[in-house]
Order: sequence, then structure tokens, then C-alpha cells
Amino acid sequence: MTKVTLQRLSKVYPGGVRAVDAVDLEVESGEFVVLVGPSGCGKSTTLRMVAGLEEISGGTLTIGDRVVNEVPARDRDIAMVFQSYALYPHLTVSENLAFGLERRRTHRSLLRRLLSRDYRGAAQREAEEVRAKVQRAAATLGIEPLLRRKPGALSGGQRQRVAVGRALVREPKVFLFDEPLSNLDAKLRVEMRAEIKELHRKTGATMLYVTHDQEEAMTLGDRLVVMRDGVVQQCASPREVYARPANRFVAEFVGTPAMNFITGRVELSGADARFDSPAGSFDLPPELARAAQASGPWHLGVRPDTLRVAPAGGASDERAAGAPGQASASVTLDAELRLVEDLGDRVDLRLVLRDGSRWIARRPSSERPALGAVSVVLDLGAAHLFKD
Ligand code: ADP
Repeated sequence: MTKVTLQRLSKVYPGGVRAVDAVDLEVESGEFVVLVGPSGCGKSTTLRMVAGLEEISGGTLTIGDRVVNEVPARDRDIAMVFQSYALYPHLTVSENLAFGLERRRTHRSLLRRLLSRDYRGAAQREAEEVRAKVQRAAATLGIEPLLRRKPGALSGGQRQRVAVGRALVREPKVFLFDEPLSNLDAKLRVEMRAEIKELHRKTGATMLYVTHDQEEAMTLGDRLVVMRDGVVQQCASPREVYARPANRFVAEFVGTPAMNFITGRVELSGADARFDSPAGSFDLPPELARAAQASGPWHLGVRPDTLRVAPAGGASDERAAGAPGQASASVTLDAELRLVEDLGDRVDLRLVLRDGSRWIARRPSSERPALGAVSVVLDLGAAHLFKD
């Protein structure tokens, strides 16, 4: 069981691109941590520095209790699974799985040949060991029936399973995954991500996983590291990142459909706070008043599944909540319902607010308001305020 520690880890590529900027992260032994963020945010570079495939420009990388900044990849006791499966086409699945192990055996065998008279016996025992490891990995991943096939005769999902198997047979201290499911179709991705989660449960290994897909990150990670422009924005459990995003970037990145926003001014007076915006004006409840530390421009964010949509003027009882001095958990804004997207078990209602903001409300499929003028009811108890 091995902990991985990144201390102010940085990467500046030749030409001056600061791809990773002083990343601090402790991956606990046996933890599954996912680096997530949009393309180009530096997650692959971070992973590749951990793997030893990319030189570290600054900071310290520790695997177990050993600083490994200068340790070559092969001596770091890690295994990496890539997006491209990188299987040898001329070898069978079984041979692909055994490949890394046998190469190691050959190196050690040379030494044994010199040291031991019983070389033949030792070599045989090692071959047995390799066979047993391959069998165990194949059983764990359910690919035993494929062991004699060549990669060309496998589906994408099967190939990816073999690629994971190749990491598994090496029994590494740490598994690294770089977008391993990106080449698979949507359905298979969902299946494979469950298998990877299951693998983590079975092995209890430390895992560091890179993806740009926030849903994949949420379902896999014990903890997420949300990155932007080489900088960690938030590092917390999926639930925490979703419920209490550290800033507007994280709030917008995590959650499908994305969080809705309106921009306005907060005016604080004593313990009270009022939000004024072209989309509507209302008092903020005490939690939000506290969150707004200063008067000035703020973004108010609400998740699509916390909204209700009523016929225009139909939510009049809640309209009073917008009156000054009467902070309430819900307020009503005027909007136009432009489109109803039917997703089978639910509908996404596409709205345009008075200030032109485009919002989505996610509702049960039984709700199907008429297009045109509507009232949108916000639960301010579930709303967020962000400075930028
Ligand atoms: P991500 O994995 O989040 O998509 P990367 O780590 O691949 O991001 O890239 C981070 C930044 O570093 C990007 O701006 C990218 O263009 C740059 N970059 C990546 N590899 C190289 C390289 N070999 N040389 C120069 N710049 C690079």
C-alpha cells in the first residue's frame, strides 16, 4: 500500500508553457483520486510526471517514502493504462499480459545463471509464477476466454480490459490511468468504469486517474482534483465538489446540465443583503447574505434540478418573497420557455431570462409546460454565490 505525494509539483515545457503550476496533492494509500478538468488544463502532464514519463520542472514527488523526482519510470513500481491500448498485435492476449513480467525475468535470469547452479529449476518456477499471475489477472477481469486471441480479434472494450490486465499482472504499488475509456462508445464507457471501480475495490491499490469527463470523475473518484490552467481549483469528494464548489469554474464544470447563472449586484446593509440584476431583484436568505462578504458584482448560481417552472404569474404566492425585507427561500423570475427536450424519464426545459441568460430546468417528464412566458421558481436555499 503506497501513498503518492505531490508538493508544489510544476512543469514548464520548453518554450515557456507552464502546464502544471505548483500542484499540492496527497493521494492516500488505497485511495482513488481523479484529476479532472477541460482539455489542456495540465492533468496528463501531472500524471506523466508521476509516471516518470515527463521530467519534473519544480517541486517534489514522493511515492511511498521515497522522493522519486530523478528515479526512472521502470523503478517507480507504478503501472500506467493509456487511452491507446498499446498492445502488441502479433502476440496473443496471454503473451501480451505476460510481456512485462517475462522481460523482467530475463534480466534477473542473467544474474541467476551466474549465481545459481539450479538455473533451470529457477527459470521453470518463474515461468509458473508468470502463468499464475496471468491467470489471476485474466480471472479478475473476466478475460480468460480471450487468452489465446490476438488483439486484432478483440472488441474495443476487450482490448481495454487486456490493457488494464497488463497493468494488473505487474502488481504495482500505484495504478495510473490516462483517459483509459476515451476510445470506447458511451455505453461501454459506463460499463468499463464500473469494472475499474470494482478492480479498485478488489485490489485496494492506490489509483490516480485522469479524465476530462466530469461524470466519469464523479462516479470513480474517492476524491476529485479539479484543475484549470495548471492550477488546482478544488480537491474534495465528489459530493463536496458538487454541493460546495470552490468557485464559479468548478460550479460550471461539475454537474449535468451545467449550473445556471445570473450576474447582479449584492447590496449589504447590516445582516441583510439584496441581489439586484436585470433578470430580477430579491432579498437573499441569511446563508447567502453571509456568503456575500462584500457589496459589489456577484454571480448567483442554481442547479437545473432545483428549479420549478410555473405558468406565467402562476407562482404569485412566492412572488411576495421578492419584496424588500422579506428574505425567503424561494423567489420567482420571469422567463420565456423556448424548448422542451424530452429525455424519456425527465425533461430539460430551455429558458431565457429577462436579462438574456440561458437557463435549463430539469424536471420530471410528467411536467410539460406550454412554450412562451413562464415563471421560474428558484430555491435560494440551494443557490450559490460566486465572486468570479
Ligand atoms: P490535459 O491533459 O489536461 O489535456 P496536458 O497536460 O496534455 O493537458 O497539457 C497541458 C498544457 O501543456 C497544454 O497547454 C498543452 O498544450 C501543453 N503541452 C502538453 N505537452 C506539451 C509538450 N510536449 N510541449 C509543449 N507544451 C505541451
